[in-house]
Amino acid sequence: TELLLCGGTGCHSTGSIKVRDALKNELDKQGLGKEIKIVETGCNGFCAVGPVMLVQPEGIFYQKLAEKDVPELVEEHFLKGRPVKRLFYKESASKEMIPQMHDIPFFAHQELRTMRNKGIIDPEVIDDYIARDGYFGAAKALTEMTPQQIIEEMKISGLRGRGGAGFPTGMKWDFASKSPGNVKYVLCNADEGDPGAFMDRSILEADPHAVLEGMIIAAKAINATKGYIYARTEYPLAIKRLEIAIAQAKEYGFLGDDILGTGFSFDIEIYQGAGAFVCGEETALMRSIEGKRGMPRPRPPFPAHKGLWEKPTILNNVETLANVAQIILKGGKWYSSIGTETSKGTKVFAISGDVNNIGLVEVPMGTPLRTLIYDVGGGIPDKKKFKAVQLGGPSGGCIPEYLLDTLVDYEEIAKVGAIMGSGGVIVMDESTCMVDMARFFMDFIQDESCGKCTPCREGTKRLLELLEKICDGRGELEDIDILEELSVTIKEASLCGLGQTAPNPVLSTLRYFKDEYYAHIIDKK
Ligand code: SF4
Repeated sequence: TELLLCGGTGCHSTGSIKVRDALKNELDKQGLGKEIKIVETGCNGFCAVGPVMLVQPEGIFYQKLAEKDVPELVEEHFLKGRPVKRLFYKESASKEMIPQMHDIPFFAHQELRTMRNKGIIDPEVIDDYIARDGYFGAAKALTEMTPQQIIEEMKISGLRGRGGAGFPTGMKWDFASKSPGNVKYVLCNADEGDPGAFMDRSILEADPHAVLEGMIIAAKAINATKGYIYARTEYPLAIKRLEIAIAQAKEYGFLGDDILGTGFSFDIEIYQGAGAFVCGEETALMRSIEGKRGMPRPRPPFPAHKGLWEKPTILNNVETLANVAQIILKGGKWYSSIGTETSKGTKVFAISGDVNNIGLVEVPMGTPLRTLIYDVGGGIPDKKKFKAVQLGGPSGGCIPEYLLDTLVDYEEIAKVGAIMGSGGVIVMDESTCMVDMARFFMDFIQDESCGKCTPCREGTKRLLELLEKICDGRGELEDIDILEELSVTIKEASLCGLGQTAPNPVLSTLRYFKDEYYAHIIDKK
C-alpha cells in the first residue's frame, strides 16, 4: 500500500507536513511502517480541500486531513479495513460511495498530459520519474534523432508557448537552430508573477525532471551547451526540488559532459529572480541573468538571433517545456490529436477566486469556459451568481456570463477581449465591483512598470488615478472617455508586452460592465 500525500506548497500551508509526520509515527507504532509506504508527492491540484491523500492501489481519496485524524485513520482504514467516511470528499460521502479520485468531478473532466506525474511520483526521487518513462524522450532525441527531426516533431505537435504569447515552439527552435554561432542558450522562464497564477510553481514542485528533460531536448535541437532556469526567489520549494533534480540528473548522466555517451554536453543552472513582474518578459529576463537591471529592449533583434549575452537563445516557460519529452516520445501527432484547429493539446489553469474548487487543473484545449468553472471548478460558493472571469492575469481581460461558452483556445479567447495568458483564472461572483477589480489590477501593473517608456510609466499611473477617482465617487462622465482614449494610446505606444496589455482589464470592463462605471459616477453624485 502506498499513501500519496500531497506535498505541494498549498497542502504544506494547510498542515500536510504535520500529517505526514503523524502518519509515519502512527504506522510505526501499529507495526505497519514497513508494509505501508508514505510518498510525499508534488501538488495534487485539489488545493481547496487540502491536505489531500490518495491511498493506492485502492484509489481512495481523503481530504482535509489533520494531525488529529491520523490515529483514527490508521486504526480504522489500515488495521480494520474500514475507510473513514467523514474524511471523504463531501459529494462522495453524501452519495455513500467510496471516493475514487477519477469519480470526483474536479478530476473527471481533466486530461493530464503536462501534469501526468502530479500527485503520483515523489519529485525528489529520480527513479520514480524514470519508472514513468522519464528521460526516455531525451534518450530518443539524443541517440536517434537529428536536431531537424526534433524540430519537425515539435512543429507537428502544434505546441504553442504556454507563457502567454502562444508562439509556436517548433518555429522558435527552428529560428535559433538556424542562427549561426557556437554558443547558444536554452532558458526556462519560471518567473511566474501574475496574481492568482501558480501553474509553473506547481509543475516544478510536482515534476521538476520533466522540465529538465524538455530543456535537454531543446538544447539538442538548437545545439546549446548551457541552460538557465530563471525562477522566482518566492518559490523556495520549487527551487529546492529543482536543485535536487539537477544533482540527480547529473549523477545519472542526463546532464553534464557526454550525456549518455552520445558526445553531447549540456548543463543547467538556476538563476533566482528577485520578483520583478517585468522580468517575465524575455529580453528583460535575459538582461537580469546578465546581472543588469531587468528592463525590456526593442525587438528585433529577436533572442533567437541575439539573446543572452548577444548569443542565439530560446526561452520557453515551465509548462511548455514540461510537454516536450512526451511529444518526442509519443510523437507530434499524438499531442495534436486533441485540441482545436489552432490550439493543440492541453492547458493548465490555476483556478481561484469565488469558486468552490480552487486548484490546479489541466483540460484539453477546446473545453468551454463554462465546463472549467462549473464542472471542474464546482461553481460559485454560497449560492451566489457568477459575474465574470478574469483570464490571463493583470494583462488579461474579464469575460461575462453570456460568453462562458467561449472555448479554451488562443484565438477564441482573444476575440472576446481577454488573453489565454499563462493560465490564471480568477472567478468573481455577483458581489464583485468590476471597476474596483480594474483598479486592483492597474494598481499592480503601474507598480510593476519598469519605467523605461513614457506611455506605460505615466499612462498606467494616470489610469489608476482615474479609476481611484471613480471608485471614490469623485468621477465625471468625461473620465470614461479619457480612460478609453488613454488605454488605446498605452496599448499602441508601449515598448513591451507589459505595457501593451496593461489596459486590458480597463478595456474589457468598459466593454462588458460600463453600466458599473456609470453607476459609480451618477449614483454617488
Ligand atoms: Fe517598461 Fe512598461 Fe515600457 Fe515595458 S512597456 S519597457 S514595462 S515601461
